[in-house]
Amino acid sequence: MEAPVQNVKSVRRSKEDKKLLKRQIKASHTLLKHEGITTASQPTQCVVVCNGGLGNGVSRELLMEVLTEGGAVESLLMPPNKPYSFATFASLSESQRAHTLCNGRVLQCNGHDVTLYCSYVLPVDGGVCECVSLPPGLCVLEDFVTPEEESRLLQAVDWTSHGDDVTAQRELKHRRVKHYGYEFRYDNNNVDKDKPLPDGLPLVCDAVLQRCLCDGHISVLPDQLTVNQYESGQGIPPHVDTHSAFEDTILSLSLGAKTVMDFRHPDDRSVAVVLPPRSLLVMKSESRYLWTHGITPRKFDVVPASTAERSGVVNFDPSDLTLSQRGTRTSFTFRKIRHTPCDCAYPSVCDSQRPASPPRLPVAHSDACHLEEQYVHRVYEEISAHFSSTRHAPWPRVRDFLLSLPSDAIMADIGCGNGKYLGINPQVFSLGCDRSVNLVSICAERGFHSVVCDALSVPLRSSAFDAVISIAVIHHFSTQERRLAAVTELVRLLKVGGRALIYVWAMEQEYRNQKSKYLKTNKNQENVENQENVENQENVENQETVENQENVEPKASKQNTESINDLDETKSESSVRQVHAGKVSSNPIRRRGGLWEGDPAQAECSHQSYSVRVSGSPRPVAPESEVEVQQSYYDQGNWCVVLQKTHQP
Ligand SMILES: [Zn+2]
Repeated sequence: MEAPVQNVKSVRRSKEDKKLLKRQIKASHTLLKHEGITTASQPTQCVVVCNGGLGNGVSRELLMEVLTEGGAVESLLMPPNKPYSFATFASLSESQRAHTLCNGRVLQCNGHDVTLYCSYVLPVDGGVCECVSLPPGLCVLEDFVTPEEESRLLQAVDWTSHGDDVTAQRELKHRRVKHYGYEFRYDNNNVDKDKPLPDGLPLVCDAVLQRCLCDGHISVLPDQLTVNQYESGQGIPPHVDTHSAFEDTILSLSLGAKTVMDFRHPDDRSVAVVLPPRSLLVMKSESRYLWTHGITPRKFDVVPASTAERSGVVNFDPSDLTLSQRGTRTSFTFRKIRHTPCDCAYPSVCDSQRPASPPRLPVAHSDACHLEEQYVHRVYEEISAHFSSTRHAPWPRVRDFLLSLPSDAIMADIGCGNGKYLGINPQVFSLGCDRSVNLVSICAERGFHSVVCDALSVPLRSSAFDAVISIAVIHHFSTQERRLAAVTELVRLLKVGGRALIYVWAMEQEYRNQKSKYLKTNKNQENVENQENVENQENVENQETVENQENVEPKASKQNTESINDLDETKSESSVRQVHAGKVSSNPIRRRGGLWEGDPAQAECSHQSYSVRVSGSPRPVAPESEVEVQQSYYDQGNWCVVLQKTHQP
């Protein structure tokens, strides 16, 4: 009765052996095909262990444990991110024993099974490992805080309360983050320097920062703290901290668990640096300005086995690599807000030193002001004389509006330019204002009442005017928020019952066979303009308009007396058009957002000029509660509305 059982067992074993052999052969083919590694047909002292690699999640310690069951391992090469390793034994008998023990062996690795397949190879040369050094200006200080300080710092971060009034907390895709002092904004990679958060940095950081000061790592105390919390498997994309936002030195404290941070030079050199818990990373000069830093999202890092608990560069020496499991790491990054442009030695990566870069649509208040100053105010100041000499003819419908006012009316022209509308109706008391000192001087020379001011804060009494006009001005504001503020300011000036006439530059530069005079005269840019109009037509909902536009012969140019002035192609005139058209850039940025509802209003900016144009039937979004739209129409390449103030807010 014994014999048949034995037979069944041996048959089963030989079946399993065949299966194992098949898989082992397959593994050696894969090695040859993908890695160029040839296995030996006869036993050697060196065994390649397929699936026994760092890339499979097998650590040096675990693999070493099973290999030494076979004998003394002379060397174990574990190339980073590869699914295999090479073990060299002192003798052939030991390598054969290890081969037998390990081939088909199943290892438990962090909750999943890994089956090892072994083959013999000719002795492998580990190669000379190139020793890498830290990026210049970077250092890692181990045990910069004690375990007690570490837990105090971690406890100080309250992740349960969002408290946006004190700190700004955000759940990012790959980590969670909290800001102190100033909020760092991920939409423009900058901080609102004029909006500090009320509570500053947590007191618990004081001792650490004083130590940084005493040890000479910093010369001034930081005023911004970003706390990032990374779960195992989370990371942060490679980046350079915005130069214009922060001063040179950046400090980052690693708490809770270690990680490996990757630094990369623009020439593609990369350095992986181990940041142990309680260590302080100091980034200065080249490492802060030129190298990117980031954390690859993964659950294990490849680190040197001999110095796994230490800081420093990961030299990818396969004879000394192992895996380190990530835990929850919290970093405290301290930075000092920069208030003057960066003048670092790395202009190619410096946002303060790149005037030619296309501007983004502004997000922060200060960015919007800067953009308007650079692309609107400065341009008008420079071209004011020429601008004025070509702006005599009032637009008929604006003139009609002014002539319709009663004889004792008080009228304000916000953005009055050279004052061409201030003298239209001599029966009306007219007051103008403009942002350009030179244009207001021209008004004064012509005997008009005018003041220099910003259209967002007009120094005139509320509810004092029967009429307010703002002709081709509001599109110069670079954000929707600011355009709405400009309309609100106009309405503030109006008496109840008073009316405002607003013209804003339209995206559509021809409408119902009526071509804007900018289009008519702009021969140099005709092709571009026509092409853009085709795009714009797609945005116009009014089918009739589109059909009419299709009948327009693009190159036909109706001349009239008014456009003769504009045919004078001087540099400054073309600047004005650029200010309005924003068409210099070969790569304009287009985004949603604007003053008007209806078709999504569009803003467009380029790196040499800037303006905002709107498309679609105009209807002001705010301050709707106080006003009523009496009329809206298209005229002179602008969308226009007449509003009446119906009651006091
Ligand atoms: Zn810089």
